[in-house]
Amino acid sequence: MDEVADVVIEAGRIARIGRDAAAGLSGEKIRVLDVAGRWVVPGFVDLHAHFREPGYEYKEDVASGLRAAAAGGFTGVCVMPNTKPINDTRAITEMMMARGRAAAGPRLYPFAAATVGSAGEQLTEMADLRDAGAIGVSDDGKCLMNAAVMRAALEYARTFDMLFSQHCEDHDLTAGAQMHEGHVSTRLGLQGWPRAAEDVIVARDLILAELTGARYHVAHVSSLGAVRLLREAKSRGLAVSAEVTPHHLLLTHDALIGFDTACKVNPPLREPEDIAALREALRDGTIDCIATDHAPHSPLEKQCEFAAASPGMIGLEPAVPLLLDLVRDGLLSPMRLVEALSTKPARLGKLEGGTLKAGSVADLAVIDPERRWTISQASLSSRSSNTPFLNKEVRGKAILTMVAGQIVYES
Ligand SMILES: [Zn+2]
Repeated sequence: MDEVADVVIEAGRIARIGRDAAAGLSGEKIRVLDVAGRWVVPGFVDLHAHFREPGYEYKEDVASGLRAAAAGGFTGVCVMPNTKPINDTRAITEMMMARGRAAAGPRLYPFAAATVGSAGEQLTEMADLRDAGAIGVSDDGKCLMNAAVMRAALEYARTFDMLFSQHCEDHDLTAGAQMHEGHVSTRLGLQGWPRAAEDVIVARDLILAELTGARYHVAHVSSLGAVRLLREAKSRGLAVSAEVTPHHLLLTHDALIGFDTACKVNPPLREPEDIAALREALRDGTIDCIATDHAPHSPLEKQCEFAAASPGMIGLEPAVPLLLDLVRDGLLSPMRLVEALSTKPARLGKLEGGTLKAGSVADLAVIDPERRWTISQASLSSRSSNTPFLNKEVRGKAILTMVAGQIVYES
């Protein structure tokens, strides 16, 4: 819906929504939040973030990650298993769930590893991991390269109704790669990561997804070839899905010209024709949703020579203003933006929230599209500030975030 309305919340749920839905309500127990002129949206749900706990808490832990999520308007975050140790056992999933509950903020949904140690050889105990709270499986950071293991993993994921999120990268084609393979990598003398490394895995996986009927999801799609393959698969009715990050929608490999390690990401920033294909695919639904791939790193991993720098940038807090730039430029409608950040990812993960329908859980955010603020170490709730947008003034901010009717962030 796109209208001026009241939202009535009772006992953690949306009781009524509509013009004058709150008319006549009064009493001491009622709290009124006047958010005239702002957008009340279903809380955002991120299908792809890295919270670094256990193992690298100096970059981010579950509590700081969830604070960053709340400050970005997110009410649910799926966290990838490439922690240390890797989340491939019930004990680690349970520990993450407990940390998430203790933080009493946005909901935490772990992805467990698909293979033991994400080594791509032996499947994890998916039933056990699901019972402990994992909503899907992924070896993110690495691609599951062996097609026979991949087929078995998809069959297991289907049996236990878990989403399989694949980091699509043929590692043989990207050995030593530092950035997108193109004229900029040639000019800088850096080893290139060709689009083909993404495309061949997406092509193979779509065939295996069709074979197994699994809920297959392409993480952080970045190439025009992958978009083409997804469009073809979806046109035949395959139940596959994909996400795109804000940075792949906004930046090209030109951002690397100054060797800015903040722009080193995996998959890499590509070319204008890729951006055009990604934006078009997001508009028409070929790409289902936006995920941040929030990847916090400390100066230790980023203030160093380019080849030694770790890939990734933070994404939870910059997402709203960066994506609103696309709306302001007329490249994305506000309704599609909200759908791609909330309704779609919630549905793909089979998670709570993603809607403001009466009776649903009261997970929502209030966005002020005009609020000006500066992305800075001081303004970020995340423990890390590795983003090329650091110290930039931006427009648009989540000013209130609510989970199950409880305010978890306000500014
Ligand atoms: Zn990845």
